[in-house]
Amino acid sequence: VGNLGRYTQEEVLGSGSFGLVIRAIDQEAQPPVHVAIKLLPRGNFIKNFKTYVNREILHQSSLKHPFIISLREVFLTPTHLAIAMEYAKGGNLFHYVLQHKPLCRLSEAKAQWIFQQLIIGLDYCHRRGVANRDLKLENLLLDREGNTGIRPLLKICDFGFSKHEMNSSAKTSVGTPIYMAPEIIYGSNRYDAKMADLWSCGIILYAVLFGRYPFDAQDRDYARKIVNADYEVPVDVPVNPECVDLLLRILVADPAERLSIEDIKMHPWFLRDLPRGA
Ligand code: ADP
Ligand code: MG
Ligand code: MG
Repeated sequence: VGNLGRYTQEEVLGSGSFGLVIRAIDQEAQPPVHVAIKLLPRGNFIKNFKTYVNREILHQSSLKHPFIISLREVFLTPTHLAIAMEYAKGGNLFHYVLQHKPLCRLSEAKAQWIFQQLIIGLDYCHRRGVANRDLKLENLLLDREGNTGIRPLLKICDFGFSKHEMNSSAKTSVGTPIYMAPEIIYGSNRYDAKMADLWSCGIILYAVLFGRYPFDAQDRDYARKIVNADYEVPVDVPVNPECVDLLLRILVADPAERLSIEDIKMHPWFLRDLPRGA
């Protein structure tokens, strides 16, 4: 992708809907550090440049928290908009879960550790007025390799669909279908993007605990199932009843009945002292 100034390109970390994310070294930092650079082709988004930049950069740039990827710098190359950010060397949570073979699911203690960080990071975003609207395993990064034995720190990334509450409640459907809240699928005129984020957190918790999603995009009936919160909690995976209770209170179709983030933080399973290192 051409010359990136003081950044030396190393490898591709991911390619997504809009562009490419690469790892690079900032040669001018003392000592030199790894960074991740998201490269967005300039041609694609030039029409909605302002909306685009707001979502992808402006909202995230105001967020400074250990559980959120921090932006370092934004610059233009002849062909791309480049967003240099903190590099998370553990990769994304989707890959992390896949490393746990053969069942591809996390222990309850690990799932809790991930979920606690997700909720605390998200609570910070919401208090700053920002909803992410694209929470999913691929957009949660980890700061260390999965097999070091030390529990990795979680970093929320990808604010490309984010929304600031100053711009009224959301009415566009964004996100990834299997993580989408019922009120979005249902096509409510206006929905509270923060409550929709919490639904996605429920999907994430379910996925890491059980190694599968509560809804299946292959199922031709899946939209109706989401709208009715018609899913099953597997009985063959031993998890604490308090954990199932929390899941059932988050994955509730009516956002008015869904647990608020305050209630989630007070829930017995959230606060439960699970054995370390399990
Ligand atoms: P998109 O908007 O196209 O989904 P993302 O910002 O989610 O782009 O990045 C795509 C993928 O690139 C992520 O799922 C992750 O695997 C990788 N990635 C993104 N940012 C970083 C980062 N800061 N550190 C390490 N990997 C990253
Ligand atoms: Mg993404
Ligand atoms: Mg994105």
